[in-house]
Amino acid sequence: MLSEFELIARYFACPRPGTVRNAALGVGDDCALLAPAPGMNLAISTDMLVEGRHFFAGADPTKLGHKCLAVNLSDLAAMGARPLAFTLALALPEARAEWLAPFADGLLRLADVHQCELIGGDTTKGPLTICITVFGELAPTQALRRDAAQVGDDIWISGSLGDARLALAGHRQELALDAATQLRADSRMHTPTPRVALGQALRGIAHAAIDISDGLAGDLAHILQRSRCGATLELDALPAGTALQNQSREVRRLFTLAGGDDYELCFTAPAERRPAVLAAAQSAATAVTRVGIIESSTGLRLLDQHGNAVDLQPVTFDHFTTP
Ligand code: ADP
Ligand code: MG
Repeated sequence: MLSEFELIARYFACPRPGTVRNAALGVGDDCALLAPAPGMNLAISTDMLVEGRHFFAGADPTKLGHKCLAVNLSDLAAMGARPLAFTLALALPEARAEWLAPFADGLLRLADVHQCELIGGDTTKGPLTICITVFGELAPTQALRRDAAQVGDDIWISGSLGDARLALAGHRQELALDAATQLRADSRMHTPTPRVALGQALRGIAHAAIDISDGLAGDLAHILQRSRCGATLELDALPAGTALQNQSREVRRLFTLAGGDDYELCFTAPAERRPAVLAAAQSAATAVTRVGIIESSTGLRLLDQHGNAVDLQPVTFDHFTTP
């Protein structure tokens, strides 16, 4: 059995070859020291993942390592920030190398992709819980804030939606999925791609942005509330994930609109910036789809492809009210 300090030293305190060093002081002292470039803001976000709540007991540790950093990087992306560093607070039932090695590998491989340095954390015994805080930087005027949507803005979505919710439906046996579909949907659920490059490319182009973790309808509602406006979405324009594409229209609509765990960006931008949005998407090698428009009348309206209103009451995931 490893001691606490052996565990930290072996898995988390040893920069791998080629790892960036963004911090002035990393793991090993009482605090890490970060020095953002002069005049820049630090963007800070925390997300916690609890076994049995956010992931199944016995989840693949490599994928879990990826996902717990990915969901945090997704928040930086939604702000338009460049990742700098992160801390890792870990509660573990036991210190097992068979779990720690692949977990650290999944985590640090994604960290290296985004040049985000692990600079500290805390390690304790307890029910498996992973809490990450990410630090990014961006110029003060460039943040993609939730309160910045303007009437007339287009609403855009990156990538595709609904596959993670489909994976859950398969596991819960709400839907009968063939093995290949389940596998494809699972990979979207377990290894989401944070849209870090797109978020940064949209600075100076997009007005407001949010990452979709609880479902598009609920997350877009945060933009609408904070920006004091409303929106109309074209329901059948919502980009369905590849696994979801063969499902019924009803399932596609429901899971793209209110699936959750997508980690795509929803953002708004002026109609005259459409070419700039498309160029940003291309530079970030990320597909984007225009799905609606910001309006002055509050609330969310849904239209089908013929322009007829659709009455669908999406439920947004909430840890305390969702059964
Ligand atoms: P303290 O007693 O000051 O809280 P700890 O003994 O908890 O310090 O941690 C020792 C060092 O190891 C600190 O620099 C801390 O940031 C780092 N650390 C602890 N756990 C982790 C972890 N899971 N990942 C990365 N660094 C960690
Ligand atoms: Mg400590």
